[in-house]
Amino acid sequence: PARSSAELIRAEEPVLAHNYHPLPVVVARAEGTWVEDVEGRRYLDMLAGYSALNFGHRHPLLIEAAHRQLDRLTLTSRAFHHDRLAGFAERLAELTGLDMVLPMNTGAEAVESGIKVARKWAYEVKGVPADRATIVVAAENFHGRTTTIVSFSTDETARTGFGPFTPGFRIVPYNDLAALEAAVDETTAAVLIEPIQGEAGVIIPDDGYLAGVRELTRRTNTLFIADEIQSGLGRTGRTLAVEHEGVVPDVVLLGKALGGGIVPVSAVVGRREVLSVLRPGEHGSTFGGNPLAAAVGTAVVELLATGEFQRRATELGTVLRDGLTGLVGKGVVGFRSRGLWAGVDIDPALGTGREVSERLMREGVLVKDTHGSTVRLAPPLTITGEELGAALAALERVLTRR
Ligand code: PLP
Repeated sequence: PARSSAELIRAEEPVLAHNYHPLPVVVARAEGTWVEDVEGRRYLDMLAGYSALNFGHRHPLLIEAAHRQLDRLTLTSRAFHHDRLAGFAERLAELTGLDMVLPMNTGAEAVESGIKVARKWAYEVKGVPADRATIVVAAENFHGRTTTIVSFSTDETARTGFGPFTPGFRIVPYNDLAALEAAVDETTAAVLIEPIQGEAGVIIPDDGYLAGVRELTRRTNTLFIADEIQSGLGRTGRTLAVEHEGVVPDVVLLGKALGGGIVPVSAVVGRREVLSVLRPGEHGSTFGGNPLAAAVGTAVVELLATGEFQRRATELGTVLRDGLTGLVGKGVVGFRSRGLWAGVDIDPALGTGREVSERLMREGVLVKDTHGSTVRLAPPLTITGEELGAALAALERVLTRR
């Protein structure tokens, strides 16, 4: 007989590493904005796989693209060419306004690859002495979990016990152009930042910060690498979050939604002068740019090229903002939002973010806390106004009922 949710949760305990503390819901199927658990209970998905599900669960055009590709060709490795890769790269370059694509799989891999490319560019183009390159990053960043990436995290939980760390990083406060300027020197290969810091609690920098980073990096012959893995691909109402300031970075890192919620697809997208530093044998990935990934990624780019999802994120983002504004003082002490993405600070007296998330789960709404009493909202961009209203009503119930 099929096991119940409670039995499945208990069964995980002895056989799975405990590196996560999931909400006690066991999802068995999903469609669009809705997921269903083993017992058939339905939940509104207000997390969307940390923005990996921007187009909702099982978007018909993405599922169709995947099915079609499954029936033809799934993997070649990059030892050979395949017939889906050129089109994927052409469309992705066009969507982002950049020139070249380095396809990888996970977000962390895209970040690692961006770091390698930036260092090589520093040595070959900028003229930084061998092994002296520095990369400037922001405090409270989240770029992934590899040993090099946690080397420049400021989150002790992410770092403790995992040293020794990779050198070559300088950490400055986020949203502080003067600190950035002081940290950049002739050894600096790149400034690597999130245009909006997602895991930190949807922290949006002041207007002018991203344009300031662009101006500073251009003036100092330093690369601007924007980690748009969570902020990009429609979430904020633009294809890329940097577009809100009309900025074009040298390198954009993409992941999550690029795989349509179906397969892991990430990419380093950049100017030709930068990505051209890589030559055969210097970098790679067995699965990077595989035919299934390229087919799904192409379908994702085609969805975004319509502009429909960016438009929805903008329009419904206003609904989200208005709804949250109405909750300020009623259990919400503050929030930050852009498009369909919000970090909501709950009055700590009402419970931790975790407790609020559990209460919302019982109301049929799935969210995830970040730090302390902050809850993050990032529904699929396919959500309707009615569903969004229902999620906000559930939040209000959870915050006002004692
Ligand atoms: N960069 C940012 C901004 C992210 O939000 C994340 C994941 O949350 C990553 C990188 C890492 O992506 P992945 O978990 O696919 O390695």
